[in-house]
Amino acid sequence: MLRIDCIPAFDDNYIWALHTAPGRVALVDPGDAEPVIAYLERTGLTPEAILITHHHGDHTGGVAELVARWPVAVYGPARKRFGDLNRPVREGERLALGSDLLFEVLDTPGHTRDHVCYVGAGVLFCGDTLFTAGCGRLFEGSPEQMHASLEKLRALPDDTLVYCAHEYTLANLTFARVAEPANAAIEARQQAAQRARAAGEATVPSTLGLEKQTNPFLRSHIPALREAAERFAAEPLPNGAAVFGAVRRWKDALD
Ligand code: ZN
Ligand code: FE
Repeated sequence: MLRIDCIPAFDDNYIWALHTAPGRVALVDPGDAEPVIAYLERTGLTPEAILITHHHGDHTGGVAELVARWPVAVYGPARKRFGDLNRPVREGERLALGSDLLFEVLDTPGHTRDHVCYVGAGVLFCGDTLFTAGCGRLFEGSPEQMHASLEKLRALPDDTLVYCAHEYTLANLTFARVAEPANAAIEARQQAAQRARAAGEATVPSTLGLEKQTNPFLRSHIPALREAAERFAAEPLPNGAAVFGAVRRWKDALD
């Protein structure tokens, strides 16, 4: 059974520590070294590798300090290099971690041009591309790019565990209810997420199956959402990418 520990950082980031072998972990998006070092010292674990999804500082800010102490492989998108990335990865590439874990790289531009996701062992590390009940803002990419990236993730099996990099579930569900008020699964998820947050629990990971039912950014093909997006855009939306783009603009306008 795969074990993944959560290391909270900043206000709402999650750094993931994937157990790759006895006593060893791979760190995903260590934006801050301090909580990671505290975690490693507390547990006695040793880092084996660092996986980076994109260049933003809240995902990479701890890398330099960590590799100065543990000179490990730093995997990250080949498209945009940043200091300390020593294993550039591309779409379709596979990386072996520990003795028996294999992760595949998915190129997922949109939030940034360089964003990649890592999928393997039933787990998806999706950084700021797919969020629980939401998706990353389009800082660099086009709606078409982000829609294509999210469609790539939507094609993964329903039981895939979604490990994104932020705790944004409640805010995202508030918008999801506006976008799809008749979707009972969104209402049920909102109640469950409110209970979890009130108890101080993370709402990440979720499953891709739940995301497909409740995440408006994976539902451009659903007629009710398309109609709502067309009302917001005040024009017909000819395809999934256009629906996605309108839903993203709609949420941006309410944030
Ligand atoms: Zn980001
Ligand atoms: Fe981020």
